[in-house]
Amino acid sequence: METRKFHIPDWAFEFHGHKCPFMPIGYRMGTLALNKLGVERCKDHEMHVFSEMGVGHPQGCMQDGIMSATGATFGKGMLDRLYYGKVAAIFWYPGIKGAVRIYVKNEFQDKMAPHEFFAYRKKGIEPSQIPLNVCEDIIDMVLTATDDELFKITELPDFEYKPVKGSFNKAKCENCGEYVFERYLRVKDGKKVCIQCAGHAPDEKVFYHPFIK
Ligand SMILES: [Zn+2]
Ligand SMILES: [Zn+2]
Repeated sequence: METRKFHIPDWAFEFHGHKCPFMPIGYRMGTLALNKLGVERCKDHEMHVFSEMGVGHPQGCMQDGIMSATGATFGKGMLDRLYYGKVAAIFWYPGIKGAVRIYVKNEFQDKMAPHEFFAYRKKGIEPSQIPLNVCEDIIDMVLTATDDELFKITELPDFEYKPVKGSFNKAKCENCGEYVFERYLRVKDGKKVCIQCAGHAPDEKVFYHPFIK
């Protein structure tokens, strides 16, 4: 029997910039999420993705694959990071009860780990500088695996999320004069100012922790 190979469009690799295994994993994850939810790729602002990725680990490339497959992009405000440091994401779609969580199985993460690709990465060599055949070999590992080999899927029937209502309302910071969208204005010494002028760190409250109802 011939091994079936998942197809990823060239433009997704061009958008991502290099050939690594995690963008394709994310692309497959996003495609599977659309199938599980029974929805089409987003044109506007339908879906919301909560990536469980953090920072400082290379698997973050997965998020470019998720965005490419689903159309749920960072720029459209459809992707948030939960900073859990896990190779997983939660997919929510309005009108569909609950959400679906997809996690890259430990077994598959362990299967990829000894690949030569990561020997280069651990030496600090960037993916675009790794021999192409090495990159293509590990990508093939991703593209020829079955969904069941790759992913653990969990239905989250009680998952609730209320998207932030979009608004075009903005005001000028009374200190620096730059425009700020209203929800980000802070009051300091009786003036409405931007977050930088208020001397705050970026507001934690803008990250939505979906498990807190
Ligand atoms: Zn990458
Ligand atoms: Zn300001």
